Amino acid sequence: MALITKKPRGTEDVLPRDSYRWQFLEQLFRDEARAFGYRELRTPVFEHTNLFERGVGDTTDIVQKEMYTFLTKGGDSITLRPEGTAGACRAFLEHGLHNDPLPIKAYYLTSCYRYEKPQAGRLREFHQFGMECYGTQNPAADAELITAAANIFDRLGLKNISLEINSIGCPKCRADYHKALIAYYTRYRDSLCEDCQSRLERNPMRLLDCKVPHDHEIALNAPMMPDYLCDECKEHFDGVKAYLDANGVTYTVNPTIVRGLDYYTKTVFEFLSGDIGAQSAVCAGGRYDGLIEELGGNPMPALGFAAGIERLLLTMDAQGITIPAPSPCDIYIASMGEEAHKKASDLCNLLRRTGLYAEFDVVGRGLKAQMKYANKIGARFSMVLGDDEIANGIAKLKNMDSGEQRDLPLDGEAFIKEFTAAKLEADFNTNP
Ligand code: ATP
Ligand code: MG
Repeated sequence: MALITKKPRGTEDVLPRDSYRWQFLEQLFRDEARAFGYRELRTPVFEHTNLFERGVGDTTDIVQKEMYTFLTKGGDSITLRPEGTAGACRAFLEHGLHNDPLPIKAYYLTSCYRYEKPQAGRLREFHQFGMECYGTQNPAADAELITAAANIFDRLGLKNISLEINSIGCPKCRADYHKALIAYYTRYRDSLCEDCQSRLERNPMRLLDCKVPHDHEIALNAPMMPDYLCDECKEHFDGVKAYLDANGVTYTVNPTIVRGLDYYTKTVFEFLSGDIGAQSAVCAGGRYDGLIEELGGNPMPALGFAAGIERLLLTMDAQGITIPAPSPCDIYIASMGEEAHKKASDLCNLLRRTGLYAEFDVVGRGLKAQMKYANKIGARFSMVLGDDEIANGIAKLKNMDSGEQRDLPLDGEAFIKEFTAAKLEADFNTNP
């Protein structure tokens, strides 16, 4: 039989046998977010296109080349979210969250969509964990946000992750910097890649993060923003570094890191993984004090980051970090005969109500095949019910690891009590 179709290019399925890896990361993100006072924000997977044009910036690669945009039957232009910040800001404004006690701290765990060339670590549907904080200019907030990300990578056991930070100043100090950049790059204009030639006109800071080798080399000797910071921005950047030092977070200052849009201000940063090849950024973020105003709100400072979940998983794989496997089936109750099947079903449901993982035969297999299945799913205990067991109200509980057996009463309450005791004992023996 031929499949009528396969998954679209640049997308991935997460299969039942692998999803615990995602759940482990997601739980760790949620725990870390909570520890920093962040609560979850969920926004739609699609938004009006103009939100991203303004909120991401129409000179960015995302808006120029990567968006999944379509017209609805009603004629509206809709875009699948390419990132999480714009939607978060829109929700912040739409629900008047600025009236809540500041700072507002929100995190998200979402899928994102970008029409890119798929390769290792670069997908068309990918997933981000992000944190956004609204309502503070203070450098302590920048350092706190960066620390939250650093803690996550530490808790995941990741090594060889470097943090690079920079300040891109404010619109005031950036004006002089832009002039200097344009003067420098104009000398090389004809040798620059096509993208960079247009960046020179529209968004000169983005020249610094061009990935074409020749252009990258030119960028190394370009004028650097830290030399152009005004007093206020310099003081802010010094503050961020001082708080990072106080938090014990190591970083290097990399003046080529930019977020080349007017509403990004001051702090920008990236976490890079040394183990996953060219798509090495696992997390990126910064301050965007002008964005809320750009989207039609009253001025409100804000900052945030997003981490790529697929790239984090790739890094964990590359570093051989194992994610704890989910706990196996607590008990498999095999059965033979109609009465015994019903009893197995009943006992399993009682167990499940206490939070245990129990299975019985829902396929119609013979006893031997049932036990084979119990082994395959790694059941910790098993029990066989037949006519005799039903008649006597007693069955043998077998510890699949040690082979040890004991009698258990089949009466509901007593059964639960004694099974729980047997399981606790086994837990203690494997993990005293
Ligand atoms: P890159 O330089 O790799 O294209 P970016 O600057 O476009 O990254 P951001 O918009 O800052 O990325 O997104 C934050 C994070 O999301 C990235 O650091 C990365 O981990 C992840 N990410 C971005 N694009 C993709 C993608 N197409 N597939 C998988 N992960 C991605
Ligand atoms: Mg990109």
